[in-house]
Amino acid sequence: MIRATACDGLVRAFAVDSTTLVNELQTRHGTDPAVTAALGRLATGTLLFGAMLKEEDQLVTVRVRGNGPAGVLLASANGSGEVRGLVANPRPDIDQARNGKLNVSGAVGTTGQLTVTRDLGLRQPYVSTIELVSGEIGEDLAEYLARSEQVPSAVGIGVFVLPDHSVEAAGGYIVQLMPGVNDSEAARIDAVVRELPHPTTMLRGGDSPEDMLGRIFGNSYELLDRKPVRFHCPCSKERVERAFLLLGETAIDEMIAESETKGSTEVVCQFCNAIYYLTAADLQDLRERAARRESAA
Ligand code: ZN
Repeated sequence: MIRATACDGLVRAFAVDSTTLVNELQTRHGTDPAVTAALGRLATGTLLFGAMLKEEDQLVTVRVRGNGPAGVLLASANGSGEVRGLVANPRPDIDQARNGKLNVSGAVGTTGQLTVTRDLGLRQPYVSTIELVSGEIGEDLAEYLARSEQVPSAVGIGVFVLPDHSVEAAGGYIVQLMPGVNDSEAARIDAVVRELPHPTTMLRGGDSPEDMLGRIFGNSYELLDRKPVRFHCPCSKERVERAFLLLGETAIDEMIAESETKGSTEVVCQFCNAIYYLTAADLQDLRERAARRESAA
């Protein structure tokens, strides 16, 4: 993933090749092609939003709740190029393609909300919601940037899925015009972006993120940084236990009852499908910690 500026810093640009990690999302969640494209576009766009964060440990989460059968889709990225994602229904019963394209809006829906949460390490995260424009994800992210952040932005993201359900190419770019860009330069960029091939066409043809921005700006852009991107889920048994503690004694009692019939309780991380086993002893310990918390509160 690269971050760049052009036109004396008045244009910001980001581009990424997310093929490997979108493939990993597909494998982990077992998504059908239309959902692979939806979740992959969302994860790619969220990574690019992550590139706009000032610090590496800041976090941006984009949640799409459309009226389609895939249900909620969510992706979360930090400023260091790590992303994870989830989808409520990875294999909805829909036509995978429509008009020769993956049926992304058929999976996501065409109405609903897109919510961006930015956790900048302050007391309150910054949360903003817009109505979905099309459910195609790229247009919805562009609308968010234009409406909520008031930065006119071109968003081009795509995912190319092979017949065996693996991902041949995924990636894209965001180009943002900051206040002060002169009209003729803005019009030139707009015209160039309109004529650009689809991001997956560029990537499948061998373009790097630098090549994608080169098609827009020629040599006249300044590369600010380049970093690897990867799927990463920060879940752990400790985090699972902390979440259980927050549920309180009653909920833990129910888990203890369940573990007595099954031997242990299985908790699956929705982001990465990692399985954590909590034994009866783990749960008993958690119950005591929860009780101490509740009596201290
Ligand atoms: Zn996880």
